[in-house]
Amino acid sequence: MSSKALEQFLDENIEDLKSRGLYNEIDIVEGANGPTIQIGGRELINLSSNNYLGLATNNTLKQVANEAVASHGVGAGAVRTINGTLDLHKELERKIAAFKGTEAAISYQSGFNCNMAAISAVMDRNDAILSDELNHASIIDGCRLSKAKIIRVNHSDMDDLRKKAKEAVESGQYNKVMVITDGVFSMDGDIAKLPEIVEIAEEFDLITYVDDAHGSGVLGNGAGTVKHFGLQDKVDFQIGTLSKAIGVVGGYVAGKKNLIDWLKVASRPFLFSTAVTPADAAASAKAIDMLMESNELVQLLWENADYLKAGLKDKGFDIGNSETPITPVIIGDEQLTQKFSKRLFESGVYAKSIVFPTVPRGTGRVRNMPTAAHTKEMLDQAIATYEKIGKEMGMI
Ligand code: PMP
Repeated sequence: MSSKALEQFLDENIEDLKSRGLYNEIDIVEGANGPTIQIGGRELINLSSNNYLGLATNNTLKQVANEAVASHGVGAGAVRTINGTLDLHKELERKIAAFKGTEAAISYQSGFNCNMAAISAVMDRNDAILSDELNHASIIDGCRLSKAKIIRVNHSDMDDLRKKAKEAVESGQYNKVMVITDGVFSMDGDIAKLPEIVEIAEEFDLITYVDDAHGSGVLGNGAGTVKHFGLQDKVDFQIGTLSKAIGVVGGYVAGKKNLIDWLKVASRPFLFSTAVTPADAAASAKAIDMLMESNELVQLLWENADYLKAGLKDKGFDIGNSETPITPVIIGDEQLTQKFSKRLFESGVYAKSIVFPTVPRGTGRVRNMPTAAHTKEMLDQAIATYEKIGKEMGMI
């Protein structure tokens, strides 16, 4: 029999979420996550994935993954420090470092895990972290785990960052101070002001930490936001995920050799959790090879993103100020936003609504993620569907 207190907790909280329209019923994708997907037996244009370059279903990567299963099996067998560091993991890390232009890299099981691992391996209760208010949940949780003092900085507000950095450093209260930011912010598609952040970091001797989950494979010819600004020597931690543009699963930190050496002995998800499978490691390494060899997919992604943005704007939609392929259609009212997304679904387009508390109240949006794998016909169909529903709901 389960605990009455637990039952009461679950009933109350699930009911509360349902009553506020925030209980997420998860859709099941029947088959591969490509530019179109099947849900409930219906084929939909998929504008909701992070599969920026279409690599999640790439044939070369599928073949490489199959070969890795044949040669290495389906699992790593143990945590890395016991005997689960395979040659494939080392090769992946070598390639990540080359891709990011750093001395070394360490891989983790996910981007989320990476933030849980890396922040708490260097920061503790005697330190402070300046964290952009729109940073990803995994950064927030990683900061909390470290027990450092968390100082929230207004979104991309460089005056606020400078003021708070000065206060933190001059207070003499902290041994180390870190500034931490997403490279690309996933809700609005804006890029972190890294040149200014790095300048402030140099002035106050801050540790710099950039989580580039949405910038890698997208900006800087694919190498990410840090490369986009030419700041490879000025950022201590370059975090990335292998689950978005790279198309597989896993996360990494790229940086100087002494930092990576430290993470290998001090970061707990590395020490106490088994690494990604041979197929994951091999496919990710191959995807990185492909990105280093050719810019073609990145260019296709941008072409498609520009096409979708121009089409939606032309029909009269507010697409915000995104600087990356992330394309929000800002609707405002929460319920209207959810209704819009539902109508898109019914009309064959899969684009999710994002509302409070994920974004501020009154800024509900349907977020569109174009990829290199979409055809112009798919994008045209999506734009036409937006137009139809926008007119139907009296929005355009
Ligand atoms: N950091 C950021 C900025 C992200 O957007 C995400 C993915 N939503 C993650 C980390 C987590 O990455 P993963 O899915 O590989 O755990």
